[in-house]
Amino acid sequence: MQIYLNGSFVPPEQATVSVFDHGLLYGDGIFEGIRSYGSHVFLLDEHIERLYDSAKAINLAIPLTQAEMTRAVVETCRINNVRDGYIRLVITRGPGSLGLSPYRCKTPQVIIIADSIQLYPAECYEKGLKIVTVGTIRNAPEAINPRVKSLNYLNNIMAKIEAVNAGVEEALMLNQQGFVAEATGDNVFYVKGNRLATPHPTAGCLEGITRNAVMRIAAAAGMEVIEPTVSRYDLYTADEVFLTGSAAELIPVVEIDRRTIGTGLPGPKTLDLLARFKAFTLDPANGELIP
Ligand code: PMP
Repeated sequence: MQIYLNGSFVPPEQATVSVFDHGLLYGDGIFEGIRSYGSHVFLLDEHIERLYDSAKAINLAIPLTQAEMTRAVVETCRINNVRDGYIRLVITRGPGSLGLSPYRCKTPQVIIIADSIQLYPAECYEKGLKIVTVGTIRNAPEAINPRVKSLNYLNNIMAKIEAVNAGVEEALMLNQQGFVAEATGDNVFYVKGNRLATPHPTAGCLEGITRNAVMRIAAAAGMEVIEPTVSRYDLYTADEVFLTGSAAELIPVVEIDRRTIGTGLPGPKTLDLLARFKAFTLDPANGELIP
């Protein structure tokens, strides 16, 4: 395996960063998790856009243009012969002093890892996930906006710990007002009749690339797509619930806080959207070709 590190390809044991890197010391940095499907890196433009928006929000100057970054991601896949894979793109603030100031960090580190993908077990897709609401609330958008995909994931990790301790795989996270925000690493949707709903990013969720694609696909398939304020009541009484993310794609949720959702099996709309999404992922037009 060859890791892209600041413009060079190096073996994993040489792909190292300084112990003074503020990415390590403070979680000061940003990242993207991206999929490739056979011939192409899926929705790479959207991921690059979000990465540069995250960088802007935390006042981090990425030392590559968006076009250069796009080429670097595609080249990392090509060199590693990664076709159906997962790409982790990380920008750290870079090495500095032990103080907080990012202005002492002169060289952001650019890391691209292209590897195989670890999905939820097939059983989770066939039977659906059971999830619980956890006490850890999602970061307030007024503080650190969850739209920034930052290296500081402690908020989500605390929620994940609660979910695992409760014996389930995933957590439902609420915002400060008690409304639904998202899961720890995925967005949440529900279906009621012909309506598909997901919280608006102002509720305190990451604006997922998969989320946005699923919204477009559902609208094209004739569903009404809305971004309302979502309470747990809406999920408990929904016909179907599912999560979305680059790694998970669409994964059905069949139980929340011991309430059975719909029939207790992955619902027809979820399965239809998953099939449409899979077809969408396989179209080379929806990504950047790997030569
Ligand atoms: N929410 C959070 C907190 C995430 O970390 C992610 C990405 N793993 C998502 C949602 C889904 O985003 P995307 O569809 O862009 O992968």
